[in-house]
Amino acid sequence: MKLKKTRKERKCYSCKSLINKGDLYGQKSIALGEKVDGESQTVEGMYTVVHYMRIPVSMCQCCLENK
Ligand SMILES: [Zn+2]
Repeated sequence: MKLKKTRKERKCYSCKSLINKGDLYGQKSIALGEKVDGESQTVEGMYTVVHYMRIPVSMCQCCLENK
C-alpha cells in the first residue's frame, strides 16, 4: 500500500479519525453491499439487478499498518 500525502482533510473510513492536511493516508477500494455483480434480487415485488459496487475510501496510516 502506497501512502499519499493528503492536501485536504479526510476522515479515516476505518477508525473515523481525522486525517489532517499533510498527513499520510492510503486509499483502498471497498465493496458496497454483499451481492455479487449481476445477481438478481426481488425487492418489494420489483425485479432488479443488484450491482456490486466498489468505492474508494481513505484510511489513516495507522489503520493501514495494523491490518
Ligand atoms: Zn484509521
